[in-house]
Amino acid sequence: MRRPRRVAHWALGIGVVLVVLLSRRGPAWLRLVGAPEPLSMPVAGLRARDVVSTWHAPRSGGRRHQGVDLFAPSGTEVRAAASGTVWKVGHDALGGQVVSVLGRGPTLYYYAHLDDWAEGLAVGQRVERGALLGHVGNTGNARTTPPHLHFGVYRWGWAWATAVDPAPLLKARRTAPGR
Ligand SMILES: [Zn+2]
Repeated sequence: MRRPRRVAHWALGIGVVLVVLLSRRGPAWLRLVGAPEPLSMPVAGLRARDVVSTWHAPRSGGRRHQGVDLFAPSGTEVRAAASGTVWKVGHDALGGQVVSVLGRGPTLYYYAHLDDWAEGLAVGQRVERGALLGHVGNTGNARTTPPHLHFGVYRWGWAWATAVDPAPLLKARRTAPGR
């Protein structure tokens, strides 16, 4: 007799929690919940048809390419492909000067080989889609290649993040005004 009622209470409780989590209002971390945002082109002047997928192409050390390389002259503007919170502004061995932004999904967007960062860009800052993050360069392991943005997309599951191919996401992007 009591068990169905208890189940109903649990279902109601879980439902309320889900509604709260899925609503887009509230504190910033709640904005991480929900479907990933459609992407705009992160490199100024590039078009969807310029994007060539090199997903899982062999790389040094037995690695596979986990991202897309967007070639553009050094100094070309790099803009946030999706909104989110700045997670990292710094260096890493492969990526050189990098920016990571945590957005809805939750999804981590990784911008690498930058020549420099946008002035004042700081961890924890909220950036909207299209915000200036830095400029194209060839830092990190791109030292010997033409300048390009390495753009990575990592989706969080229940326990860990999985890299997904950004190329189809960029090709399917909605048209960003002025870009
Ligand atoms: Zn790359």
